[in-house]
Amino acid sequence: MFKDIFELIKKYQKIRIARHVGADPDAVGSTMSLKNSILLTFPEKDVKLLGTGSNRFSYFGKFDKCEEIEEDTLLIVCDTPDIRRIDGVDDINKFSDVIKIDHHPFIEKFQDNSLEYIDINSSSASEIVLRLINETPLLMDELIASQIFWGIISDTNRFMFNNSSPDTFHLIGNLIEKYQLNINKLYEPLYLRPLEEVRLEGFIASNMEITENGVGYIKITDKTLNEFKTDAAAPGNMIGNFNYIDNVYVWIFVTEDVKNENYRISIRSRGPIINKIAEKYHGGGHNFASGARITDINEADLLIKELDEELKKYLKKDVDLSEDK
Ligand code: AMP
Repeated sequence: MFKDIFELIKKYQKIRIARHVGADPDAVGSTMSLKNSILLTFPEKDVKLLGTGSNRFSYFGKFDKCEEIEEDTLLIVCDTPDIRRIDGVDDINKFSDVIKIDHHPFIEKFQDNSLEYIDINSSSASEIVLRLINETPLLMDELIASQIFWGIISDTNRFMFNNSSPDTFHLIGNLIEKYQLNINKLYEPLYLRPLEEVRLEGFIASNMEITENGVGYIKITDKTLNEFKTDAAAPGNMIGNFNYIDNVYVWIFVTEDVKNENYRISIRSRGPIINKIAEKYHGGGHNFASGARITDINEADLLIKELDEELKKYLKKDVDLSEDK
């Protein structure tokens, strides 16, 4: 399939690359590295990123201001399983060809003939882009290697999530060696954050409640966000830091988002599968890392209850298995 993807890239003069709304380092890393690699290999091509830019990710490089969709254009979408969450694309059928590069569970085909490379066992979309570059004539340099590094490091939470395979370690080891990446220097922009966010994290740790079976949850109001001088995106950025808390197997942050008139939800698990439950609340994601948006805060209580019941079943299964031994 990588060969077919390369041939399609080679065929088109105009290429647009998109990612999901609510950008994260893997979405930005996979798209920017792919754009830079295509331009390094084919400098004459017209390659631009779609979607809204983000100051938070300025260390990756420049975002493009590109809205117009012209004829004979190839669209490549990274890190996004469904059309509704592609940032900057109103009508996917305007594109002559579409490629999907993703590591989320399959939701829908983008076009009847779209070329879709989906590997749910891959740590990140950036890891797939790295394999694509390694296995085709696409070129790489230190900047591209750094962008891929940020994407993989972020989506694996420095290899702490269970999506890191031996392949992930081999690939990243080779990348560090070949491009002499300075890991500490690269960690700095990725992990540097305002003191206000650290203080908000302290607030969440102090105020998180735990259900009977071990779901950690907190509802964060706009008033709290203002008190800490942060915004609705901040809690989702720190949810990975709440892993490995004794007796907390699932944890969920519900954050009031006044600007979008809804609530942002981030859920993580180190036990039960959560994405099927998130899908019932206008969300989705990976087995152990999901998100959702709700407009009615009462839905948050229903969601927490469902997660608690799922966790109860999961813990019971564990006990039953150990009793069978
Ligand atoms: P987050 O908690 O925002 O980092 O999201 C975790 C995972 O869930 C990512 O893979 C997202 O793509 C996915 N996700 C987040 N929000 C939504 C949503 N509203 N609908 C579908 N998937 C989502």
